[in-house]
Amino acid sequence: MTLTLALSKGRILAEAAPLLAAAGIIPAEDPEKTRKLIVGTSHPQIRIIIVRASDVPTYVQYGAADLGIAGKDVLEEHGGEGLYQPIDLAISRCRMMVAVPEGFDYAGAVRRGSRLKVATKYLGTARRHFAAKGVHVDLIKLYGSMELAPLVGLADAIVDLVSSGNTLRANHLVAVESIMEVSARLVVNQAALKLKRRQIQPVLDAFARAVGHA
Ligand code: ATP
Ligand code: MG
Repeated sequence: MTLTLALSKGRILAEAAPLLAAAGIIPAEDPEKTRKLIVGTSHPQIRIIIVRASDVPTYVQYGAADLGIAGKDVLEEHGGEGLYQPIDLAISRCRMMVAVPEGFDYAGAVRRGSRLKVATKYLGTARRHFAAKGVHVDLIKLYGSMELAPLVGLADAIVDLVSSGNTLRANHLVAVESIMEVSARLVVNQAALKLKRRQIQPVLDAFARAVGHA
């Protein structure tokens, strides 16, 4: 029986590659370069599928992949239904934050109970965050380049991932509130874990060792 591992290209793949190698999983072709969406590995029982970062939880939830690697940002937004999240891989670390243009009095606006326009690709997470704080917001869904929105009057604030802060600085934005710490997690289909425990457990153990030694 083959196990399928869902991965996204870019940051997660780059940072997960050393952990995968330590767990004995080396892709047969460079997933960054190949046009194939299904790639074999050096591990006789594991193949990789290449999907969009935000689609990883969906493939694993429905069992099209047994395992996957996804950021906590994506998992929070998805909801985590049907997923077991055994290992924080401690890679792709950043923070989900509220940011506003330099000079915008965010704390004052919150204190006055102003209604804020907030642009983000994390609608669910943003909605829950502002509701918990009692801040009234109109959320505007974007798919990328959130930093642009306040610069052209689309929004007062954004909710986005921040690591170095360079993109914010380059666009004269400042982070004013942290929503959560983000890192990539290994996720497992809950039913697969029960039905294929004998195959999956050694893979989980290998990842846990790889993270411990990292
Ligand atoms: P796509 O580029 O296909 O639209 P994406 O923008 O979600 O998708 P990436 O930018 O590669 O893809 O981000 C993938 C994951 O990497 C995110 O879900 C998040 O967990 C993590 N990530 C994103 N930005 C950063 C960052 N600045 N620092 C660290 N990790 C990040
Ligand atoms: Mg991207």
